[in-house]
Amino acid sequence: MSQVALVRCENYNLDNVRAAVRRSVELLGGMRRYVPPGARVLIKPNLLQASTPEEAIVTHVSVVQAVVELVQEAGGQVTIGDSPFGMFTRGRLQHIYESTGMQQVAEATGATLNFDTAATTRTHREGHLIKRLDVARYATEAEVVISIPKLKTHGFMRFTGAVKNLFGVIPGTTKTGYHAKLVTRERFAHMLVDVTTFIRPALAIMDAVVGMDGDGPSAGRPFPIGVILASADSIALDVAATALVGMEPLSVPVVRAAAQRRLTTGRLADLELVGDSFAEARVSGFRPAKSGIDLNAVPPWLRNMGTSLLVASPRVTTSCIGCGICAENCPVQAIHIENGRARIHLPTCIRCYCCHEICPEHAIELHQPWPGRILVR
Ligand code: SF4
Ligand code: SF4
Repeated sequence: MSQVALVRCENYNLDNVRAAVRRSVELLGGMRRYVPPGARVLIKPNLLQASTPEEAIVTHVSVVQAVVELVQEAGGQVTIGDSPFGMFTRGRLQHIYESTGMQQVAEATGATLNFDTAATTRTHREGHLIKRLDVARYATEAEVVISIPKLKTHGFMRFTGAVKNLFGVIPGTTKTGYHAKLVTRERFAHMLVDVTTFIRPALAIMDAVVGMDGDGPSAGRPFPIGVILASADSIALDVAATALVGMEPLSVPVVRAAAQRRLTTGRLADLELVGDSFAEARVSGFRPAKSGIDLNAVPPWLRNMGTSLLVASPRVTTSCIGCGICAENCPVQAIHIENGRARIHLPTCIRCYCCHEICPEHAIELHQPWPGRILVR
């Protein structure tokens, strides 16, 4: 039975976060159980895009600092790294490290920031769908990986937590290739589980002090939850996190994919919850992502109503400034810029919502069709 630790943490005051992170890891046996002295440790936060900690798009700087300090106390040599969505270049990494506070963590703790943007191909024999992975080199050079996800909704995957966070070890624009090849939620979820079983993080410590609901993972609403969650089992952590915010864990594609592979039952009752009261920490009012229904989950007769009626479509709003970032990252080239504004060719669109995720102006909204409002939990 996998253990998941839950510790209340009401705000991002660094001392509060330090105490909560320390306690959550002690409940799981202490950091020395996971980090041998002298080990090269990769700390993998969610650094989706350049943004401030208050926007709740990335793992909060206080949580990253608290984890780095704990790993250093155990004798680990820390590198902080992620491959954000879009271009994976030194200049972009520097910009993201500065805006998200990672630069500040490195200066305060002496941790190294990763600037290696090289990729490598590795065999993953136990992979269910992906037997050969293109992985960022920085992730393969660590002896121990500690993931620090942020609890958020996600238009395509419904939820992003410990499993989805590891997609950040896939280098830059290689991610769009996976979107183009693995169009359905089910296949994409199996790929994410494969990445998780390849990376095998020793520990995942989730920033759920303030999560994001609604139009996550970048344009949603910061949502106070007030906890740090931790587990050595990333899938178990996602089961607990989704249940905490009122989602049915098995409605989340990565949990479902993991359950099909008997890596979880998807039931909260099958986890060993330790720490503060889970029941008291549960929140209400957490809004799901507007992703529409999953075509694989509806009866064939309903599919005849057409994709446009069943699946949420991306729409460009008047906030668009025509920067072209969405067009550069659309896996099927369904976007072009015309008269200073993005235009989406919906018949080509595969509904991966990468444009919605990456737009720095939050100018792409997901239009949820009428049947989706009824059929989606
Ligand atoms: S929708 Fe967003 S990413 Fe695309 S061109 Fe407009 S502002 Fe740029
Ligand atoms: S238009 Fe947006 S949602 Fe559609 S395929 Fe391109 S990136 Fe994905």
